Amino acid sequence: MQRIDATTARALTLDEARSLSWLGEPELVLGRTTTTLYWAIEAEVDDNELEESHHLDGLRGLHGVLDDTEWNIGGRATQVLDWLRDHRYCGRCGTPLERSGGERAMQCPVDGLSVYPRLSPAVIMLVERDDGRCLLGRSSRWDVPMYSTLAGFVEPGETLEETVHREIYEEVGVHVKDVTYFGSQPWPFPNSLMIGFQAKWAGGDIRIDPTEIADARWFSHDELPMIPGKPSIARELIDAWLERVSA
Ligand SMILES: [Zn+2]
Repeated sequence: MQRIDATTARALTLDEARSLSWLGEPELVLGRTTTTLYWAIEAEVDDNELEESHHLDGLRGLHGVLDDTEWNIGGRATQVLDWLRDHRYCGRCGTPLERSGGERAMQCPVDGLSVYPRLSPAVIMLVERDDGRCLLGRSSRWDVPMYSTLAGFVEPGETLEETVHREIYEEVGVHVKDVTYFGSQPWPFPNSLMIGFQAKWAGGDIRIDPTEIADARWFSHDELPMIPGKPSIARELIDAWLERVSA
């Protein structure tokens, strides 16, 4: 079987998609780049039935293989299709929902309840100490000895900066200051939006929450452990720090 790589991975054309067994109508427009209009379809596909030169991979397998734009469009497709499948009835009165005209929403024809695709914002942050070391942690859920920037979901009613302060304090007992925005990355597993920040250490020694963190340490640039690969916002945060401290 041919390996999918960056030179061969791409979205299907409409003609190619027509050869698949569609489960619904291809009416879900995802958006347009300067050259291409993208649609999402739900299809039942057996890898063995594809032409010999084609095979399928999931969104995870294509991360870092497809270019960022097409991968994010793929992420939008899976999230919108999942959302449509999981929001077919009004949560308030049980009536079947209908597509809302003019915006991406499902609406109840009885009481008007609108349901939008679910996004779960999460902050991810690199904390740096005065001596240039950065704080990286190892999740208690990981089975590899990898360390990464800390991260956590935003609670209702919180600013992103408040989440940064709270999550770092909860996970490793450290206070931070000078929280600045770095960048963001859609992460469709299942529906996160990772919002990256840089922060400075303001006080406190590392005291981990063992339910979430197996280990956390201050690392210097010449003693880095295994870190996340590219492309990921965690790696971008670490690479930006490396550039700063080696300058
Ligand atoms: Zn209703």
